Amino acid sequence: MALVVQKFGGTSVADVDRIRSVAERVAASRARGDQVVVVVSAMAGETNRLLGLARAIAPSPDDRESDALVATGEQVTAALAALALQQVGVPARSFLGHQVRIETDSAYGRARIVRVDVERLQQTLAAGTVAVVAGFQGVDGEGRITTLGRGGSDTSAVALAAALGAEACEIYTDVDGVFTSDPRIVPRARKLERISYDEMLELASLGAKVLQIRSVEFAKRYHVPVHVRSSFNQEEGTWVVEEEATMNEVSVAGIAHDGDQAKLTLLQVPDHPGVAARLFGPIARANIIVDMIVQNVSEKGATDVTFTVPRGDYEKARALAEGVAREIGAQGVTSELNVAKVSIVGVGMRTHAGIAARMFDVLAAESINIQMITTSEIKVSVVIDAKYTELAVRALHDAFIGSAGTEAK
Ligand code: ADP
Ligand code: ASP
Ligand code: MG
Repeated sequence: MALVVQKFGGTSVADVDRIRSVAERVAASRARGDQVVVVVSAMAGETNRLLGLARAIAPSPDDRESDALVATGEQVTAALAALALQQVGVPARSFLGHQVRIETDSAYGRARIVRVDVERLQQTLAAGTVAVVAGFQGVDGEGRITTLGRGGSDTSAVALAAALGAEACEIYTDVDGVFTSDPRIVPRARKLERISYDEMLELASLGAKVLQIRSVEFAKRYHVPVHVRSSFNQEEGTWVVEEEATMNEVSVAGIAHDGDQAKLTLLQVPDHPGVAARLFGPIARANIIVDMIVQNVSEKGATDVTFTVPRGDYEKARALAEGVAREIGAQGVTSELNVAKVSIVGVGMRTHAGIAARMFDVLAAESINIQMITTSEIKVSVVIDAKYTELAVRALHDAFIGSAGTEAK
């Protein structure tokens, strides 16, 4: 008898019919002898609707109340899924984050899971009942409801799979698996059979929102095999697993894009020790994740510093940067919002030379200007004008992965 965690995303619980079909799938797994813990997202569009309501009342809503509000989306689907299971003869019970006890820190809106208590879930399973857990939510040390950031139900599911020692975590979504590129942008993208944790981690961090980054971090740390697959058919999806030797044979496994970026530049920053710390310290303390940083060569004792942040944090980052610019005597701050990051990812880059140069050639051939570049062992990212995103992703896909192949569903 295997224990599996099955997570159903927003489109997979979008309405009553979809919830019924979730119940049938869970019932089938159970009929095969598996114990199942179900994790659900809110119905597609619901989290945005709730955030919109909060903003209609308060332009920048208190983040604690905002979390209390948006967490309700998953409460609805958890209870409905439990009802649907009961309706097909499967004993089921829903759990909210605090009832399981998924404990998080107090970073409202982007909380991190610090502890998962699975005793009550284990008792429920032992009694032959399916536990349906509301994804995306937890409770902090003060007893307040927290949410885990957009796409956070993936992380709820993998964290539960890790804590329960589940055999696998199945992520049911609206595409057939992890593709070589977002199938909505590259129709020729191919479904990957297997991808390593590290490659998936890079793809997720670089914009492939099929899995939330933290879910992949958990999976890697606790060795949880993750199976990303469609809730609309029975096809085998993509396994996210430990790296295998054959994965090094291809140089580029996937291409990701992220249009959710903003670029800020501090002009004429005095070039002496401690300046970078003065700038990035306050930004880090504001919980803003800085992605790329480029510092130019110092000319006459001053240098420009350019960096990117998630678009949602732009206003906060700009205000902080302007404050620091005044303090340290920089000339000022400029910014650009119409930028996108396009990245190529593959563990094979460790053993294949010239991948970055080829990427730059491909972009040059399309007359796309590169504004910033960063590399790691297994990825190369560039920042470009957002209007060229699709062109860049398709050209890179053709060059590195091939234009042939089956059309993505
Ligand atoms: P869910 O609501 O099920 O969590 P998401 O919308 O969060 O679903 O994630 C699935 C979406 O991720 C797909 O519809 C697809 O457009 C997008 N996506 C981006 N990059 C990729 C990729 N490389 N492979 C598969 N899907 C991707
Ligand atoms: N409902 C949340 C969101 O829309 C969490 C999730 O779906 O994973 O981001
Ligand atoms: Mg998601």
